[in-house]
Amino acid sequence: MNADNPLLQPWADDLGLPPYPAIDAAHFEPAIEAALAAHRAEIERIATQAEPPTFDNTAAALDRSGRLLARIEPVFRGLATANTSAKLQEAERRLSPKLASHWASIARDPRLFARLDALVRQGDALPIDAESRRLLWRLHRDAMRAGAPLDGAARERLGRIVERQAALMTQFAQNVLAEEQQCLWLERDADLAGLPADLRESARAAAASRGRPQAWAIALSRSAVVPFLVFSERRDLRERAFRLWKGRGGQPGDMDNRPIVRELLALRAEQARLLGEANYAAYALADRMAGSVAAVFELLHAVWAPAKQRAAQEEAQLEAIARAEGGPERLEPWDWRFYAERLRRQHFAIDDGEIRPYFALENMLSALFDCAQRLFGVRFVERHEAPRYSADLRVFEALREDGSRVGTFVFDNFARPGKRSGAWMSALRWQSRGGGSVRPVVFNNSNFPRAAPGEPVLLSLDDVRTLFHEFGHGLHGLLSDVTWERLSGTRVLRDFVELPSQLFEHWALEPSVLARHARHVRTGEPMPAALVERLLRARRFNQGFETVGFVAAALVDMHVHLLTDLADLDVAAFERQTLRMLGMPDAIAPYHHLVHFQHLFAGSYAAGYYVYLWAEVLDADGHGAFVEAGDPFDAATAGRLLRHIYSRGDSVDPAEAYRSFRGRDPTVAPLLAQRGLVAEARSSPSGSADSDRNLSSAVASPAAP
Ligand SMILES: [Zn+2]
Repeated sequence: MNADNPLLQPWADDLGLPPYPAIDAAHFEPAIEAALAAHRAEIERIATQAEPPTFDNTAAALDRSGRLLARIEPVFRGLATANTSAKLQEAERRLSPKLASHWASIARDPRLFARLDALVRQGDALPIDAESRRLLWRLHRDAMRAGAPLDGAARERLGRIVERQAALMTQFAQNVLAEEQQCLWLERDADLAGLPADLRESARAAAASRGRPQAWAIALSRSAVVPFLVFSERRDLRERAFRLWKGRGGQPGDMDNRPIVRELLALRAEQARLLGEANYAAYALADRMAGSVAAVFELLHAVWAPAKQRAAQEEAQLEAIARAEGGPERLEPWDWRFYAERLRRQHFAIDDGEIRPYFALENMLSALFDCAQRLFGVRFVERHEAPRYSADLRVFEALREDGSRVGTFVFDNFARPGKRSGAWMSALRWQSRGGGSVRPVVFNNSNFPRAAPGEPVLLSLDDVRTLFHEFGHGLHGLLSDVTWERLSGTRVLRDFVELPSQLFEHWALEPSVLARHARHVRTGEPMPAALVERLLRARRFNQGFETVGFVAAALVDMHVHLLTDLADLDVAAFERQTLRMLGMPDAIAPYHHLVHFQHLFAGSYAAGYYVYLWAEVLDADGHGAFVEAGDPFDAATAGRLLRHIYSRGDSVDPAEAYRSFRGRDPTVAPLLAQRGLVAEARSSPSGSADSDRNLSSAVASPAAP
């Protein structure tokens, strides 16, 4: 059986891609079982060897182990996230607890810990280079955090907790996916009032794919609902769409995530207690750049108050428009985006329909590649013959200027049934040298709606930012240049991982990039200077709303992970009370509610949603280096950025890496200016990340905001 299993055979493809067309869902369980057994055998050899511990026979050996599993598991996770099926979901429900407990049992193995600990105790006497010292420190810390030093009963309990968490998180994600296949049905022409032609077409296509070609459907995913809320003139339908969308995961029935959230929180609180921390938030923060719960609250509250103030000004403006148009006296959350779009058109004379023809997906891909080449000297060549699991995939070989290969980059850009919503980066393989040279294979996933047959795909400004954001993560994986796999690419601390992605968004709106790539899809004319000017001015538009929505979700995340007694938790009531206590404006909803908050309950951002804002402090401050150099492609600055950030992975301490790039520590002021929340600081005229946020399988354990 295993002899015919394509996952266990050598892969012919030179780009590192598996033979997707030959792979069936049934291949995964036997292949992963075989890979788990092989890895367990390697671990036993390392743990039971007679030789005293050395860096090479312990830390390096651990880093080199498990290559078969490292080859197969990401293929499985990639398909389960981007192209799943009932059979694959079934396999996932069985395999994810096994995989989770496999990794956790290695991390908490007391024999491995004893060897690592003996090495750590040698301190500077151990003759190894700085990156190897960092690997040893990382593995030792992973073991401590997994409970390796605990007694047998506590370790065993931790193991069961980790396994149960994985099963619950899989169920949570599958429930959200099922909810997002549900939709708001539009039956009559009158239900389409205000919707632009492309939205009508994608709603028509969504209905057809659900067997009702005569109707229109708005699927309950962010990428479908948000444009509907922006454009629909039917307030009653906006309210229905909004309530259905925000209600995902919170209704009684098969897809109810409330008991899952409660149990996950209880397990996390117990996990933290076993490891000697007061609560899960404290446990999570101990392994972040921020370092403490207090530091996170300090940042969130530094932004929360000015954001609410800004949002109140925005609300007054929107209510004035609503009144003038005979709309509601008081704005509800399903009104905000609609009137904000009116205001945006009035103030900046920017209409989404006017912008999109300049943002053809194909041209924006060229813009990504061009920026990567000018900044980091890497170019992309499409490989049409590469194996793929969907015709949507675009496979590129990334090359250095001398023609040598950097790695493989794959785009999977379109929404499909069976694909998680949002946008994320993942890696099929991490770069490393420790066990022979391994080149990275990186994926960028998005959920852009398809165009009508024969028509070009046109993106919104948010879509373009998302594209640049994920490509920034992708470059972080692709340009990695480290020895050890554990320290490779985006495998950095959670609140550092969004720096390369958010920083890269700045190039999306560089005037020189727009001039070269934002060309009208029919005429080829560059975007008119006046429109560029309006776009740049509009960057801070609606940032009160965006910031409040984001920070509210981040604050709820922190508060819910401070809880230690979960027995009687009413998830929705807790969230309502927390938001009331924080003074949440009535007309704004948090970006995510707990019952569908995949970052927290299907990803690895628990007590970590704040990381986007933390990284924005770094990206706003970091982009200032290019502003100060007077050139968005300044070679010396780009060289430092590559050397200290994009290629470094976790091989150096992130605060130190940042200082090496910037020459000093970051400050918060550029972030507040970037979002227009305080009077402008001259050095940071940049846009910010209000698009769909990442929840990557590389970047997060699996990754979408
Ligand atoms: Zn991201």
